Amino acid sequence: MAAIKPFSLFRSHITVRALARRNPISQARPLFHLPHHFRRAMSYVRATTDEEASAKAAAADADRGAPTIFDKIIAKEIPSTVVYEDEKVLGFRDINPQAPVHVILIPKARDGLTQLSKAEARHEEILGHLLYAAKKVAEKEGILDGFRVVINDGPTACQSVYHLHLHVLGGRQMKWPPG
Ligand code: 5GP
Repeated sequence: MAAIKPFSLFRSHITVRALARRNPISQARPLFHLPHHFRRAMSYVRATTDEEASAKAAAADADRGAPTIFDKIIAKEIPSTVVYEDEKVLGFRDINPQAPVHVILIPKARDGLTQLSKAEARHEEILGHLLYAAKKVAEKEGILDGFRVVINDGPTACQSVYHLHLHVLGGRQMKWPPG
């Protein structure tokens, strides 16, 4: 079940209000008169809808080439728990982990790589470097017996930060298909 991301929540008061105008599910009216399981299902729908709306809003910003939260993490303007770093990439723990190990791996220079689908031939080297760094992160984190590397690309995949990044996930049994 998709968790509500704190990061998404930060932006969601805007999107929830926007959605509320169109979507009665997003209205903040309490649903206490409904059975518990139904309320849980409704809040899941609300969280998922929020996540999708946030992803769409983030995609609009991406087109403007706006800096992202990851620029601040690279510049150490906001704190993060770094688990891997070399001259080209930075790996740090996700603020909203979806597994016992959840590391975000990014190129230090975005160089137009807001998302994988924007990759060009000149990015081949950094893309390979990122994948190899993912293996090193998995090794460092002790999850070489099984881990997953995810790239969310675009609003349909719920990408929320437009600076290419790999999610390195592990430390629990993964399921397939992913949500
Ligand atoms: P996406 O949804 O774009 O594939 O992934 C973005 C990831 O960045 C999310 O998993 C989210 O939790 C993470 N994230 C967003 N903001 C921050 C932050 O300020 N610090 C850290 N460590 N992770 C963040």
